[in-house]
Amino acid sequence: MEKKALINIDFTYDFVADAGALTCGKPGQQIEERLVHITREFIEDGSYVVFAVDVHDKGDSFHPETKLFPPHNIRGTSGRDLFGGLQVLYEENKERENVYFMDKTRYSAFAGTDLEIKLRERGITELHLVGVCTDICVLHTAVDAYNKGFKIVVYEDAVASFNQKGHEWALGHFEQSLGALVK
Ligand code: ZN
Repeated sequence: MEKKALINIDFTYDFVADAGALTCGKPGQQIEERLVHITREFIEDGSYVVFAVDVHDKGDSFHPETKLFPPHNIRGTSGRDLFGGLQVLYEENKERENVYFMDKTRYSAFAGTDLEIKLRERGITELHLVGVCTDICVLHTAVDAYNKGFKIVVYEDAVASFNQKGHEWALGHFEQSLGALVK
C-alpha cells in the first residue's frame, strides 16, 4: 500500500479572506469546511500533514512575483495565518510529530524547500493535494510531484482559484497529463 501525505497549500488569510491581499474570495471560502475535514482525517490517522505556506519579504525586488502580484503573505504578518477553521485545527495539532508547517517562496512546495527530503525519509509515495490556487501553487506543486515520481490525488472540492477557467483547466491537467486521481 502506498504511504500517503497531505500537502495543504496556501490556505491563508491573504489568499482566502474577503480582505486578503491576493484573495480567491468565495471559491476559496466555499472549500473551507471540506478542506478542514480532510486535514483532520489525515492528522488523526497519523499520516504526514504538511502546511506549505507562501512567504515573502516586503519589497523584495529580486523576487519574480513582485512584478506579477500585489504584496501578499508577507513574513510576520497575519496575512500568513491559516484561514478560519484550518488555523484552529492547526493550533490544536501543531505539536504532533506528523504535522509540519513549512515556508515556501515559490509556487511549488518543492522549490527551494526540504519537502522532498521529509517525504522520502518517511517512505511516502503518494501525495494528496488541497488548497489554493488550483491553477498556480497547487498546479506547480503537482507538476514537481509528478516529475519526482510521486502518485498524486487531488480533491476537487478542496481546491479553488479566483480563476474558474484556470481551475477547470488544471483539474483536467492533473488527471490527463499528471496521471492524478481527481476525486
Ligand atoms: Zn507568493
